[in-house]
Amino acid sequence: MGCLALNASFEPLTIIPVRRALRLVIDRKAEALEVDEERPFRSESAEFPAPVVIRLVRYVHVPRRLRRQVTNTFLFARDGYSCQYCGRHRRDLGYRESLTRDHIVPLSRGGDNRWTNVVTACSRCNLRKGNRLPTECGMKLHSDPSEPNDVELVWAIRRVTPIQVRYIRLFYGEEVLRLLSH
Ligand SMILES: [Zn+2]
Repeated sequence: MGCLALNASFEPLTIIPVRRALRLVIDRKAEALEVDEERPFRSESAEFPAPVVIRLVRYVHVPRRLRRQVTNTFLFARDGYSCQYCGRHRRDLGYRESLTRDHIVPLSRGGDNRWTNVVTACSRCNLRKGNRLPTECGMKLHSDPSEPNDVELVWAIRRVTPIQVRYIRLFYGEEVLRLLSH
């Protein structure tokens, strides 16, 4: 379990190893906002409770990296790790089945890799659909695929604790973080 690092502005930056977070606190480069008393962390000379959320003392400028690329990691996160045709979650798939990327309009028929043309499908549904449009094979999508918010995606694929979620939500608001409940 890592530590959530916030900018001086309270903007959630990333998850860092607890050891590194502790180093920042000891060097007074960050303050610990939340600690886990149950989890003491031993340094050279003393014991500290493990920091769960820290805030940097000085604001650091972080260039915004756009994550427009549809990687499977982000695609599956957007779709809640569920097949958008049969609705099965990743954990309900059988042996030898997996989540795949389905092109609603197949590439061979002019479809592209944009967010609005790709959905998560289990390998069984993807195979069944083959080179057809959903309407040609009587398959129906569970949701209309759309381009997700960058922030949603970045946090959806990370493991965060309920305490850390509270700080992420504080900064970004409720709506952006609905994916974190998966
Ligand atoms: Zn399926």
